[in-house]
Amino acid sequence: MAAITFAEDVAGARPGEGDGAVPRLTVIGTGYLGATHAICMAVLGFDVLGVDVDPGKIERLAGGEVPFFEPGLPELLAKALDSGRLRFTTSFEEAAEFGDVHFICVGTPQQRGSDAADMTYVDSAVTELARHLRRRALVVGKSTVPVGTAARLTELVRNTAPAGSEVELAWNPEFLREGYAVDDTLRPDRLVFGTASAWAEEQLRAAFAPVIARDTPVVVTDLTTAELVKVAANSFLATKISYINAMAEVCEATGGDVTGLAEALAYDDRIGGRFLKPGLGFGGGCLPKDIRAFAHRAEELGVGQAVAFLREVDGINKRRRARTVDLVREMAGGDLTGVRVTALGAAFKPNSDDIRDAPALDVASTLHQLGAHVTVVDPAATENARRSHPELSYGTDALSAATGADVVVLLTEWTEFRQIDPEAMGAVVASRRIVDGRHALDPVQWRTAGWEYRALGRP
Ligand code: NAD
Repeated sequence: MAAITFAEDVAGARPGEGDGAVPRLTVIGTGYLGATHAICMAVLGFDVLGVDVDPGKIERLAGGEVPFFEPGLPELLAKALDSGRLRFTTSFEEAAEFGDVHFICVGTPQQRGSDAADMTYVDSAVTELARHLRRRALVVGKSTVPVGTAARLTELVRNTAPAGSEVELAWNPEFLREGYAVDDTLRPDRLVFGTASAWAEEQLRAAFAPVIARDTPVVVTDLTTAELVKVAANSFLATKISYINAMAEVCEATGGDVTGLAEALAYDDRIGGRFLKPGLGFGGGCLPKDIRAFAHRAEELGVGQAVAFLREVDGINKRRRARTVDLVREMAGGDLTGVRVTALGAAFKPNSDDIRDAPALDVASTLHQLGAHVTVVDPAATENARRSHPELSYGTDALSAATGADVVVLLTEWTEFRQIDPEAMGAVVASRRIVDGRHALDPVQWRTAGWEYRALGRP
């Protein structure tokens, strides 16, 4: 894998070697983002201390086990631990003593009963760390936060740290994609540094020296702009997905074919084909909550109208889930009671075990609520799905899960689902009926094999 080759290229070449200014790093919050960041930074040659409030997670990481599915990461964790440059702890005091640059990577989920981001984890992590900061240090926010957070945290850090204004704050938004997290961390398409002083910029440049040395573009800006870059990027991507899904709705009303439409649009360089894939829409731990939090924050700031379209983007996205349920129900003859449905996929996207706001599980659970007997199968997310949705049944592989199914619905486009042989699956199901929620299958091939094939936005 390219990511590992790159890591091997740079491992051993100590960052900033020769100039004596190699910062020691801590990574506070070792979830999808933080664990990846900590491991990759250690592989790049830094001394890194990972910190989390979850002792079980820290124990697993320290024992060489990545607590989530991310291709390439377990190998790099082993390598980082072997190098002696990566350690884990639950002690903020130890972190404060150890680190020169502290990356804040804790979660910012959606608040219960509100669209706003829940900032309690960020506030608590920064407070706990700052309480022990007795010397000059840089605290760097990486979590995705409402604009204005960095200014607020600057005050918090100054008022809490024994070292006072010796401690500075910077923002370095993270753009990694689950499934490609290693490569995105080692070879990001850009680095964004939101800083309030030349010293902070220097520290960040030292902390990313091996990455910058690979000609990675660096955008240095103020704290506010850095915070905004992340939510603006996610809003744009969500809008592009919902745009083509809005066209799918129009196709459904008119008999057009959204896949042909998307293909034709993609040839226009100004539009481009990426994120212009129609289907069941976006989910996960970032896009949905980030656009909601952005709209909420803009409303608080009196500029809600400027991003009011994000509410519609969210609405279009949710309607795709409802429409997928409708397609399954239509195929089942209008009533889902007692219908056996096989759901291919639970993760919010392939190559991940993340089920946060996963469209696949949302659809599967709605089908269950409407009376269907749903069996879910997913190559990586089954255990997470079982914990959050114990009411559903789970299979071990697509063919055995589809045995006796009245309708099959593809919800996450894992390669192994794309490669299913329609004849082999046709031999085990009760009825050859499939809803392709991700435009992942070849309709001609499936129809030729005698399947009734339906997909969003297609006749
Ligand atoms: P996550 O839930 O996987 O990880 C968060 C971690 O923080 C958990 O391990 C939790 O135990 C820990 N934590 C909570 N409170 C803590 C505290 N006070 N001190 C120390 N640790 C604490 O979340 P994630 O997906 O890694 O996301 C983290 C942030 O990064 C979010 O703001 C998210 O929006 C942003 N982000 C995530 C991704 C991604 O692909 N997952 C990409 C870019 C940005």
